Amino acid sequence: MALSTYPDSYYAATAVGMHEYPRLQESVRADVCVIGGGFTGLSAALNLAEQGFDVVLLEAERIGFGASGRNGGLIGSGQRKDVVEMEQQFGLQRSREFWNFAEAAKTDIRERVAQHAIDCDLQYGQMLGVHKKRYLGMAAETCGALAERYDYPHARALSRDETRELVATDSFLEGMYDAKAMVIHPLNYALGLARAAVAAGVRIYEASRVLGYTRSDPATVTTATGQVNAAFIVLACNGYLGKLEPRVAGKIMPINNFVVATEPLDEQRASELIAGRFGVHDTRFVVNYFRLSQDHRLLFGGGENYRAGFPSDIAAFVRPNMLKLFPQLADVAIDYAWGGTLSVTVQRLPHAGRLQPNLFFAQGYSGHGVSIANFAGKIIAEAIGGTAERFDIFSSLPVLTFPGGTLLRYPGMVLGMLYYSLKDRL
Ligand SMILES: Cc1cc2nc3c(=O)[nH]c(=O)nc-3n(C[C@H](O)[C@H](O)[C@H](O)COP(=O)(O)OP(=O)(O)OC[C@H]3O[C@@H](n4cnc5c(N)ncnc54)[C@H](O)[C@@H]3O)c2cc1C
Repeated sequence: MALSTYPDSYYAATAVGMHEYPRLQESVRADVCVIGGGFTGLSAALNLAEQGFDVVLLEAERIGFGASGRNGGLIGSGQRKDVVEMEQQFGLQRSREFWNFAEAAKTDIRERVAQHAIDCDLQYGQMLGVHKKRYLGMAAETCGALAERYDYPHARALSRDETRELVATDSFLEGMYDAKAMVIHPLNYALGLARAAVAAGVRIYEASRVLGYTRSDPATVTTATGQVNAAFIVLACNGYLGKLEPRVAGKIMPINNFVVATEPLDEQRASELIAGRFGVHDTRFVVNYFRLSQDHRLLFGGGENYRAGFPSDIAAFVRPNMLKLFPQLADVAIDYAWGGTLSVTVQRLPHAGRLQPNLFFAQGYSGHGVSIANFAGKIIAEAIGGTAERFDIFSSLPVLTFPGGTLLRYPGMVLGMLYYSLKDRL
């Protein structure tokens, strides 16, 4: 049976070094069985193999098939919540710890790209556009806090005119530019991590959906055509978890988010639209995020839904959001349109932990997972290796269960999400 194909995305069309890994068709032993071939699973597998563990990674579809190969590629600084909010919620010391984790996550990606020569178009810079009067002053407050209390002088507040010089839209009232945030081609980064993991000794199997595992030590992990006996399991399925692990499913809500890539723009037109290759996102609840690709397309993410299944015409779904910011692109064709599933937690902070002595998981990065998922994989590997200090801090973030758990989380959440997305428009 042929492996499933990637969605028809700009990333799949420009993938470098795509490789087909075999399906698991036998019974094998390993120290660790990683379930899921996105950033969390790949990073855990690579870091574990480097520590000398014998690792098997099972991916239901293809490497980077989930959110990791479909996202906006924006690598923001800090957590999903900004430092001012983190301080209010957790106090300065803990807020600093989580800031430092996120900085370590950024460093880790830079180092991996360099160490394994991953061709993933890493670029620096990210701009936040403030779209509502209510948020005026927020950028200056955050930049001040970062410089004073986080030793981070790389973010600066922008006036309306300054944002307009960087991004040709009238939608932003002011902004913030973070020179040390980054963007990458996420699928190429995932494919590069997989190659590095294999070189370090990881055995990767694609088209090998895990159907279940025992709660024993060692555990037996079962697919339709094989099984893995392993001392440890790392569960890294995030928005694609489904019913595999009911003990954590109620802590996350899967949501679908959508991206388009325009046809290539004339180089000058592209640079007049956005003055560089940096990423941009805005303060909307359903965030718009965009940037220019290497070949001068606008990659624009905006719009989401909260049910199983994507809109039948994703381009038509996203295009109005793009034109609202950039009416000057009305004549531009959309070449690619795709969606992906991520997971959010109630507090929009990641959820990691240990379900039994030999089962670790991380999920719920709430739209901020490009760097944090990589980091979660790394510190799970540290914990399995016996150094759980960073994992213990990371997994101590409070994570509420969605009211109604997996059965009833949708009606309430969907209403809540629709309410906030409606407020975006007011
Ligand atoms: C459209 C979109 C845009 C986004 N933009 C950004 C952004 O710009 N910046 C940012 O920081 N974050 C962004 N995110 C979020 C980010 O992509 C995710 O947080 C991150 O990729 C999560 O990585 P992961 O490895 O945990 O999960 P995933 O990449 O989703 O990987 C999970 C994998 O597990 C596999 N799997 C599931 N069940 C099984 C099973 N039973 N057996 C075997 N394998 C299984 C799936 O097939 C999948 O490949 C975006 C997400 C989406 C969808």
